[in-house]
Amino acid sequence: MKAEILSIGSELTSGQNLDTNAQWLSRQLAEIGIPVGFHTTVADDLADNIACFRAACARADLVLATGGLGPTQDDLTREAVAAAAGVGLVEDRASLDHIRDLFAARGRVMPDRNRVQALFPEGAEPVFNVAGTAPGIWLRVGRALVVAMPGVPSEMFRMFAEQVRPRFLAAGLGGGVLVERKINTFGAGESLVEERLLDLTRRGHVPEVGITVSDAVISLRVLARAATRAAAEARIAPVEQIIRDRLGDLVFGAGAEELQDVVVRLMHEKGRTLAAAESVTGGLVAYRVCQVPGASDYFHGGVVSYTDEVKRRELGVPRDLLARYGAVSDPVARAMAEGARERFGTDLAVATTGFAGPGGGTDENPVGTAYVALAHADGTEVTRFGWLGTRLEVMSRTAKLALNMVRLRLLKN
Ligand code: AMP
Ligand code: MG
Repeated sequence: MKAEILSIGSELTSGQNLDTNAQWLSRQLAEIGIPVGFHTTVADDLADNIACFRAACARADLVLATGGLGPTQDDLTREAVAAAAGVGLVEDRASLDHIRDLFAARGRVMPDRNRVQALFPEGAEPVFNVAGTAPGIWLRVGRALVVAMPGVPSEMFRMFAEQVRPRFLAAGLGGGVLVERKINTFGAGESLVEERLLDLTRRGHVPEVGITVSDAVISLRVLARAATRAAAEARIAPVEQIIRDRLGDLVFGAGAEELQDVVVRLMHEKGRTLAAAESVTGGLVAYRVCQVPGASDYFHGGVVSYTDEVKRRELGVPRDLLARYGAVSDPVARAMAEGARERFGTDLAVATTGFAGPGGGTDENPVGTAYVALAHADGTEVTRFGWLGTRLEVMSRTAKLALNMVRLRLLKN
């Protein structure tokens, strides 16, 4: 069993709109145990649409299309499905009446052009659209079942949830559920993470384990299929345990959990307080911590100390340190963190300094270099890292590095 999602519209291929329907449908299909093998996006061109429907029907058992069902000339899905199936178009009386009624209910006469929305490939069943004028199309083409739905997300959501999904379930398509568990790590590169899990990430492993990277966070995705959610979760649990055992404290959370969520939770558990002294991250560390409900009990505050002057005045960084080592250096990061810890009176204080680029940087500390210091009861630790990335990426990743240092310290103490 394999599904293909076909997203139709020139506004998608031109890059003007993002194809969110395919993402949503893939998740919905996973919920009912139908794996998606292909996402195809095609412009409003009849020949290309026909070719896409033919290709999809040849390689997938289930083809879910969205878009191109409107009344305008660029809406070609009806014709394309009919051509791919090798049948003509016929008018459906009930659909026509429904479209007319929708206009009448708003005190308007149906424009002639909307009549095409009542045309269906011969042998197709209309799928009722409660939310709009475009009915969907349900048609078997060779070995594949084609379901075409409106492109407008709200109309598509309702049609899928209220009519398409129940029919798939009743027909016993797919069966069971696909459950995905995301385990999030920070602090090691993708290849290093995989090196420790090669037996799990090899192709054909059940359950499937994949690796994805997003803004310096490396996530393992464990994908299991079973008759019920509970059974799928039971398959995932031992694999998750192996991953956690092998990766140790590189793993910071699961699902949508972010570093700041873990930091606030650990501060709560350990009864610790935090302050931030930020240069390169421009307040991002404070911002992220403050996104977590309850942060105010543990996060006292911070300074965005961008200039040397502010580093001196607000954090007490000695003038000669700045002169001798420069603002982007281990001693200055250290002095910032210690100054913040003292002035804010917190258990922990984290400091960031670096070159976000695109300008700046030195031979010793090129663009992308960041120093993060963490001052705590037993002293001050400094981590230096060189990021490759845009200005915003360097800022974001340095903030994550800072949050991760806080997390690791809280785990220990
Ligand atoms: P259509 O049904 O092709 O007339 O599409 C109507 C509108 O729905 C388009 O103008 C888009 O704004 C939106 N739309 C169509 N396809 C998608 C898609 N795959 N993802 C998100 N929005 C879409
Ligand atoms: Mg369209």
